[in-house]
Amino acid sequence: MQLHRPHEYQPEHDVHRITLYNTVAKEHQHRDLKKRLYLHMDMNCFYAQVEQRAYNLYGLPLAMGGWRKPDGTPRGIVATASYEARALGIETAMSAYEAWQICPYLIFMQIDYARYQGISRELYSILDRFSPDVEKYSMDEYFMDVSFLLKKSRKEIAEYGQRLKNAIYEKLGLVCSVGIATSKTYAKLASGRRKPNGLLLVMNADDAAEHLFPLSLKKVWGIGSRRFAKLNSRGLSTIADAFRSGPGVFQKLFGEMQGKLFYEIVTGRDRAKVLDNKNHVPDEVSYMHTFSDWTTDADQVKGEIVRGIRNVCYRLRGYGRRARKWVFNLRYQDVNWQGDSVVFSTPGYTNLDDYVMHACLPIAMNMVEAALGAGERLRGVGLHTVEMIHSNQVELFFQEKENLLNLHRATDLINNVYGQNTVERAASRFGVPGKTHFVERS
Ligand SMILES: [Mg+2]
Repeated sequence: MQLHRPHEYQPEHDVHRITLYNTVAKEHQHRDLKKRLYLHMDMNCFYAQVEQRAYNLYGLPLAMGGWRKPDGTPRGIVATASYEARALGIETAMSAYEAWQICPYLIFMQIDYARYQGISRELYSILDRFSPDVEKYSMDEYFMDVSFLLKKSRKEIAEYGQRLKNAIYEKLGLVCSVGIATSKTYAKLASGRRKPNGLLLVMNADDAAEHLFPLSLKKVWGIGSRRFAKLNSRGLSTIADAFRSGPGVFQKLFGEMQGKLFYEIVTGRDRAKVLDNKNHVPDEVSYMHTFSDWTTDADQVKGEIVRGIRNVCYRLRGYGRRARKWVFNLRYQDVNWQGDSVVFSTPGYTNLDDYVMHACLPIAMNMVEAALGAGERLRGVGLHTVEMIHSNQVELFFQEKENLLNLHRATDLINNVYGQNTVERAASRFGVPGKTHFVERS
């Protein structure tokens, strides 16, 4: 079990991992052709379910992420909603105002990450008893390698899945969907077919034909809307179509190697590994803060930029990584949520806030002032790394100052023990309320 020791870094605190097509990149694939079995567990509308249980709101439409102004008007964005709210047409990413127009008696609750994070750790400790290989994919989604079940009968495999669901329900009072399949992608698709509170096995071609063939290729990992459009132009729209077409079309569209890999993914033949989170280090660390409402207050936006820098640097230190090239972006309030971004460099590879602030703030604030001058209303800020290296690689022309290193070691230690904002920068006391996404790509 992953026990958190209080003095240790928690770089994944609040992080939503986005695993791109790279999940099925070569280094994330098993080399051998051995048959494997995967389990995917997905909590059903996790935040909403936790709050429904905690406040006995079962059967009521609940939206997570919005709140009301003193005059009663809802603000913010719906992060997720209970099934009751979904049935009324309330969707993720809808503005709270829109949701309220659909359902005036909709309950709004704020997201309590710390609580969900705790439940997520409990989930891990339950799953850990069911398989030695557990991958935390996001706060409420886990993959497990359950190849040891391959010799068992279909009935026994289904019972194992049910036991796991029961264990979660008994301990946490929460329901989930479970998919068990011969590929990681298919396990994820399978759990998606049984929402809420279901279990589906995709063990062979017949199962796939029955349950997954009708699915749109858009639903498959790695096939985004652009790739889907390309496939669609060749007459392919479902998984069944892909089986019928063979790998040729994929290779023509996406190149020999990548096309083959996509075809394997779509047809459940890829050999993706269940990744070990303990050694998980992302290829990119990023931060995105969307304001609940637009602002034209440069000082507040500056405070958010400082917060973003602190957060990204803290996580880099937790991972033992440093970066030299970074991207700052600024988003505007308009129909397309357009924005601008700028690449900047620190004097060398670093993970200390001071160097990044020194390099980022003048450029970022220039952009803020220019945007405000042009009449833009600001709606969010973001920061992500471009080039990272291992901490222990030595640089010739740049050395982080020893006193800064020690200062960060000391403040991290205090913050790790007593909570993230115990020691804080004065500048980051200015801010704009909103929803923060910590995204990692691996
Ligand atoms: Mg979920």
